[in-house]
Amino acid sequence: MPLPSLANSSFLAAALLAWYPRHRRDLPWRLTRDPYPIWLSEVILQQTRVAQGLPYYLDFVSSYPTVQNLAAAPEQEVMRHWQGLGYYSRARNMHHTAQQVVREFGGQFPDTYAGLLKLRGVGPYTAAAIASFAFNEAVAVLDGNVFRVLARIFGLHSDIAAPSSRKEFQALADQHIPHDEPAEFNQAIMEFGAIQCTPVKPDCLFCPLQSQCYAFQHGLVALLPVKAKAKATRTRYFHYFVLRHGEQVYLRRRTEKDIWQGLYDFALAETDSPTLPESEVLRHIEALGGELDLSRVAEAPAAFRHVLSHQKVEAQFHPVWLAQPLPPSTLRDTGLQAYSAAEIEELPKAVLISNYLR
Ligand code: SF4
Repeated sequence: MPLPSLANSSFLAAALLAWYPRHRRDLPWRLTRDPYPIWLSEVILQQTRVAQGLPYYLDFVSSYPTVQNLAAAPEQEVMRHWQGLGYYSRARNMHHTAQQVVREFGGQFPDTYAGLLKLRGVGPYTAAAIASFAFNEAVAVLDGNVFRVLARIFGLHSDIAAPSSRKEFQALADQHIPHDEPAEFNQAIMEFGAIQCTPVKPDCLFCPLQSQCYAFQHGLVALLPVKAKAKATRTRYFHYFVLRHGEQVYLRRRTEKDIWQGLYDFALAETDSPTLPESEVLRHIEALGGELDLSRVAEAPAAFRHVLSHQKVEAQFHPVWLAQPLPPSTLRDTGLQAYSAAEIEELPKAVLISNYLR
């Protein structure tokens, strides 16, 4: 579909810059030009709503006031602060990036878009956000909100989930960013997408761009942006063996390239079935060298469900009392270790595990 003519290419900037001061939310990362807290907020807010991310941002800023503090923190402690936010690779990348900034850049964030892209885990969006908010570089941000606003106003029908569309949208956004106020424009267009031109029920009635908006004028608001359907969700069946001896419980750190890498959980068998027959439970415990404490009454398994973006985990937790500690060979081969309740409290864990323990 051809683009509508851009007779006045600054109409978008003018409208957004007039709209923004009257509607913006007061958010702490907007009060600074320091690239470190700006970067923290951007990492935390990826795939996370502001209301959910805000307490994490405040916690990170107060626990690690400088990039040096974050770089020097043990990874396990950082993961613990991140617990509950999901997408844990972001926390690991964030920690590594802090170390990279200290090691390779003397504790100073690069002050250009191109320089910021050299940081681990910093992609075009985050680099553009930091470059404009902290250093006033005129490079347009492109997040889900911006894609939506541009698709609707300019009637773009390209699939926003396709990597090939990025170039088209980026060129359009770069064409409209005012060089004297890039930070304000980027903030404004993202905020406009977040609270006015929302995915469902956008506030078109009171929109300052109504008369220039292609989607509104052509009755296409509900159809734009075009986004290909996400991959179907897959269901996984986890069977956890909560092995206990005395006051101690066995957990291990997840090292596989899979969900929750770096977090702690129990001995696990993944199968194609939501339930595991008792004979199978016993077989797994035996394979771990576990000896059942027959003086304890066997507890029924507990079922929990956890939904992630592309997968659903149906988990069964099987409590097991052991007569003896697990043999050293099992600890070596599986990474399982015995922890007290207080120690478990301090370990970084997926929400599913915390919910069960609670
Ligand atoms: S008129 Fe509606 S769809 Fe168009 S920019 Fe405004 S809020 Fe978005």
